[in-house]
Amino acid sequence: MTTLKPCPFCGGEAAFEQTGKNELTLRCVEIQPSGLRGCGPKYVQKGGIRFTLEWLQGKMTENWNRRAPIPEAGNGDGRTFRIGDRVRKIKGSSWQGKVVGFYSTKLTPDGYCVESEREPGSVQIYPESALEVFPPLPSISNDEGKDA
Ligand SMILES: [Zn+2]
Repeated sequence: MTTLKPCPFCGGEAAFEQTGKNELTLRCVEIQPSGLRGCGPKYVQKGGIRFTLEWLQGKMTENWNRRAPIPEAGNGDGRTFRIGDRVRKIKGSSWQGKVVGFYSTKLTPDGYCVESEREPGSVQIYPESALEVFPPLPSISNDEGKDA
């Protein structure tokens, strides 16, 4: 049996959950600085009637483990922003919040997932060039104003 590697985004723990009759969800279950559980995308796969849950689990573990390992847990090595940093969009629409994850594509090698401060739970993705660090502000919304 192959073991599940840590979450490729934050280095946290990953876990399977049975989410349907023959369906598994694999995701990060690490508690994020934002207080939310898990980061990044989750992977849902159905076995249908052909495949058993064991088969699914093996397959999903393989795929999960094949993704690039994280350089250092929780800090997207070599990136400008880190998990938990407050950033905002430089121009265009307004979006500000905390970095909750990273992504990387051919076009955008350094991309960030930013959770809105005003609407917790809403996450948008932006390339690094679209973001700037946002100095900590006294509470602008009705969040609890906890200091890190
Ligand atoms: Zn994670």
